[in-house]
Amino acid sequence: MLTVAERLNDIQQQIMDACKRAERNPEDVTIVAVTKSVGPQRAREVIESGIRHLGENRVEGLELKMPEIGSDARWHFIGSLQSRKVRDVINRIDFLHSLDRASLAKEIQKRAERPVDCFVQVNVSGEASKSGIGPEEAADFIRLLGVYDKIRVVGLMTMAPNTEEEQVIRNTFRGLRELRDEISSLGLPHAPCTELSMGMSNDFGIAVEEGATFVRIGTAIVGYESGERS
Ligand SMILES: *Cc1c(COP(=O)(O)O)cnc(C)c1O
Repeated sequence: MLTVAERLNDIQQQIMDACKRAERNPEDVTIVAVTKSVGPQRAREVIESGIRHLGENRVEGLELKMPEIGSDARWHFIGSLQSRKVRDVINRIDFLHSLDRASLAKEIQKRAERPVDCFVQVNVSGEASKSGIGPEEAADFIRLLGVYDKIRVVGLMTMAPNTEEEQVIRNTFRGLRELRDEISSLGLPHAPCTELSMGMSNDFGIAVEEGATFVRIGTAIVGYESGERS
């Protein structure tokens, strides 16, 4: 069994290798360790290995782990967020990765006590099972968010299809990057849109090659904890 620190070392090396291939600076890639499948103790281990960004996809996960970790971490909410859960989540987190509809934006505006750094989730691959707005709607959607002073669009997020075909994954990430470039060039004050949240345990190397600035890595860092108390 590898420790969290050993797994992390390996991942950091892979990110450095991908940066070298793409002629990027590794400092421009932030690892968000997704702790949704493990308990507070394993999350604490991640923090002790030097990671500062943690990702959760449910309110319950935040409630379970925040007391243990608290302000040692910056918290990323990466799961789809139901409107009725917004008030339980929005003032606890540093980043929301799943802004994908107008009704959610409206609810954030109502509940947030300060501006929230949001990624707009885009369904680049068009799979019916994936959430996110269509790439062709993204620019208009983001323009309309300008009426909400509690929303700051820092970037775009996507998930690649679950496939072995590297080219399909790469095209998804590349599509998101092109969209990011297009939207950031609009110069919208509420939407600097410079960041790209893409890449998970199975595909973060490709994502980094294609420009990811935040990679959301779960199992490859924390492993599984099935059967353990969480
Ligand atoms: C669970 C999850 C991840 C991490 O997945 P791994 O395959 O464990 O790395 C990343 N992003 C989102 C949105 C997730 O739900």
